[in-house]
Amino acid sequence: MAKLYFHYATMNAGKSTMLLQASHNYRERGMTTMLFVAGHYRKEDGGYISSRIGLESGAEMFRDGDDLFARIADHHEHSNVHCVFVDEAQFLEEEQVWQLARVADRLGIPVMCYGLRTDFQGRLFSGSQALLALADELREVRTICRCGRKATMVVRLGGDGKVARTGEQVAIGKDVYVSLCRKHWEEEMGRQPAEDLMGFAGSARGAE
Ligand SMILES: [Zn+2]
Repeated sequence: MAKLYFHYATMNAGKSTMLLQASHNYRERGMTTMLFVAGHYRKEDGGYISSRIGLESGAEMFRDGDDLFARIADHHEHSNVHCVFVDEAQFLEEEQVWQLARVADRLGIPVMCYGLRTDFQGRLFSGSQALLALADELREVRTICRCGRKATMVVRLGGDGKVARTGEQVAIGKDVYVSLCRKHWEEEMGRQPAEDLMGFAGSARGAE
């Protein structure tokens, strides 16, 4: 039985590296993989997945309204796909997650999705919500906060180096994302007073 997997994490946990490595393992054995990446915030020539340690591979882009089952079934017909990989899976629509479930159930092809669980305000992305509901297997990709605890949350730093507390779910530009544990996330978001001087506010004061 092929399964639908969701590997979730915060930013900078190495999800794309894991995806590219796993795809490479298939291809090394002469098997065919099909890679997807969200096209929502990319130009027409943005169809690739790259990792921070330099790995890169071409990928098809998915956008709202695309029928992923049809695209995969079509490709499978002439080149026998062994595994499907989806990066930035938080941007999938609920219906597209159902389509990927059908790829596992009806085409017998495993589907490995990688993405963020929550946005910078601690809310589920729509794609992640559907994947958490429908995936056969959930796997957490771990990364750590500056304090050494497991990071499960992410904050967004604007161009001014300050933590964004409101705004659009996705910001394009010079924004930087930092993964934090829940305790430090609440402090950075101003929901709880800071108990130490590890915060961005503290380091910003030190730099002045
Ligand atoms: Zn922490």
